[in-house]
Amino acid sequence: MNIIFLGAPGAGKGTHASRLKAEKGFPQISTGDMLRTNIAEGTPLGLSAKQFIDAGELVPDEVVIGMVRERLAEADAQNGFVLDGFPRTVAQAEALAGIARIDVVLNLEVTEDTVLKRLGGRRVCASCGAVFHTSRLEDESVCPLCGGKLIQRADDAPGTILHRLEVYHEQTEPLIAHYAQAGLLKNVWVDGDADENYRDILQALGI
Ligand code: ADP
Ligand code: ZN
Repeated sequence: MNIIFLGAPGAGKGTHASRLKAEKGFPQISTGDMLRTNIAEGTPLGLSAKQFIDAGELVPDEVVIGMVRERLAEADAQNGFVLDGFPRTVAQAEALAGIARIDVVLNLEVTEDTVLKRLGGRRVCASCGAVFHTSRLEDESVCPLCGGKLIQRADDAPGTILHRLEVYHEQTEPLIAHYAQAGLLKNVWVDGDADENYRDILQALGI
């Protein structure tokens, strides 16, 4: 099954996509993670993407489309995948239609209040990449999994979070109507408890 996770920053796309990968084996194709890997490795693509990401802007369509096109051609993506964070613009959705068949688009719905709380408290491990929320951490600076240093993403700074939400409303939200019209859209309310949200996602997917 070829799945798209749509939703505002902080809706939980990455959290649930990574659980689907661990428990059901779907490759998680996260353009945000791919871009951050490129930045960490200092590739030309990473260098050109960094300024957009840190400012809370979208990376140009042609850059992410090229990246996803290559990723979807790999062997493990031929038997289903979860796209997490792509497409984010109508142009990306149109390009994707020429690259892969999509079976279902899950629109993960949350209130803006929840988004602000989740992103404001988000910490990531600089060593292993695991993601946490401060409300569940004993020590906000140490990774409970590997002992690595926990940091706040530059784009999770308060002002940048607000700008990312504006960008979401302007550029990504139109995809909800786009995929509803294509008959592919399913809405899942993911404002509450993560385990319950995950069960609702499995139910919406029928797996
Ligand atoms: P979140 O879902 O919390 O916003 P992501 O890791 O998905 O985080 O994305 C982080 C940033 O990476 C985005 O704000 C944007 O700059 C860039 N990015 C990720 N995916 C795309 C995409 N499909 N198109 C353009 N930019 C993207
Ligand atoms: Zn860690």
